[in-house]
Amino acid sequence: MKNPRNDQTRGPFDYSGCIHVHTTYSDGTGTFTDIIRAARRQNLDFLISTDHDTLDPLQTGSEGWHQGVLVLVGQEVSPPTSHYLAFGIKKVVSSNPDNPQAYIDEVKKQGGLGFIAHPYDRGNPYLKVKSYPWTRWDVSGFDGIEIWNYFSVGMEFGRSLPRILFGLMAPGLVRTGPRRETLAHWDRLAQERRVVGIGGLDAHAVRRKVFPGLAVTIFSYQGSFGTVQTHILPDHPFTGDDRKDCRLVLETLGQGRCYVANCLQGDPTGFRFWGVSSSGFLAMGDEAILSEPVELKASLPQSGVRWDLYRNGSLVATGTGRSLSYLALEPGAYRMEVFRQRLGRFLPWIYSNHIYLRAPQG
Ligand SMILES: [Zn+2]
Ligand SMILES: [Zn+2]
Repeated sequence: MKNPRNDQTRGPFDYSGCIHVHTTYSDGTGTFTDIIRAARRQNLDFLISTDHDTLDPLQTGSEGWHQGVLVLVGQEVSPPTSHYLAFGIKKVVSSNPDNPQAYIDEVKKQGGLGFIAHPYDRGNPYLKVKSYPWTRWDVSGFDGIEIWNYFSVGMEFGRSLPRILFGLMAPGLVRTGPRRETLAHWDRLAQERRVVGIGGLDAHAVRRKVFPGLAVTIFSYQGSFGTVQTHILPDHPFTGDDRKDCRLVLETLGQGRCYVANCLQGDPTGFRFWGVSSSGFLAMGDEAILSEPVELKASLPQSGVRWDLYRNGSLVATGTGRSLSYLALEPGAYRMEVFRQRLGRFLPWIYSNHIYLRAPQG
C-alpha cells in the first residue's frame, strides 16, 4: 500500500484556513490589514487571497506570517466564465477566455496548484447578480475543485426578500451546503484520479448604501471567515518560516489532506477520516490498490450529528454516532459528509476529501 503511515496519534496537525478572499487589489473592500485583523478574530491559521488577475500583493510583502496568520497570495484567473484559483505562482496567468486548458497548464508550468472555482454558480436573478459557472469540462490537469463556495451558494439561496432577511439574520440556520451537482461531478472525476475538494468564500465585504449616509457590509470579512473553512492536516507543524510554511499549506492541499466545514455549525477541529489495513494507514487524499479489505474510520468532534459515507457518489452507510467504522470491500472513491442537528434539522457541516481505493489491475 502506498504511503503507509502507522502512527495516527502523533498527528496530523489541524490548521484552519479561509480560501478565496478578495481585497482592494481587485474588487474587495478591505486591505490586507483588514483581512488579517478579521482572520485573527476568527482564530484562523492561514488565509489565501485570490484577487482577480493580479499578483501585486506579492510585491508589497503581503505573503508570509502576519501577527500569527499565515497569508498566501494567489490569483483568481477571471475570464467572463470558468474562473480558476491559482496558488503558489509568481507570474500572473493570462485569462484566455477561449481556452481554460491554457491557464490550467500555465499554473502547472509555474509549479502552482489550481482549483476550478464555483463550478455550478448560478448568480442571482432577483438581485441581478450574474452567474460565473465553469463551462469547459473537456480539460485536464487541474488539481481540484472548490466544492463549496459560500458566497455563490448564499447568492442562490437569497432569491426573495424573506430569504435574504432570514439568511442575514440567522445564517447558521440556513440549510445550504455544497451544490449536489458539484459533489456528483467531483465524485465522477474522483473515480479516475485524485481531485482535491476545497472550500472557498469569495469574500469581498461588499458595501451597499441603503440610505444616504448609511452603508451596510454584506458578507463582511470577519463574518465570512467564521463560515466555510478548509482545514489542512499536515504531517508536521508550521515552523514560523514564511516560505516553508506556505509550501506546507500548498503541499497538504495538493495531497488532498484536508476537509471543508461550515463553522457556523460548530468547530470541526478534530475531525478525522482515515483507512487502515494490515499494510498501513491511509489519509484523506491517499490512493491505494484495494488488494485486501480496508477499514475506513472516522472520528467526529461533537455529538448531535448524522454522517453519510459515499462510495463513487452513492450512499453506502449512514449513522449518528461520533465514530465510524466501515469495512470497504469494493474499490471506489470514498468520502464523508457530516450534518449537525439544530432545531430538529440536520444542517451541512463537514465534507471530507476522498480516500481512493483502486481496483487491482488486470
Ligand atoms: Zn469567481
Ligand atoms: Zn472570487
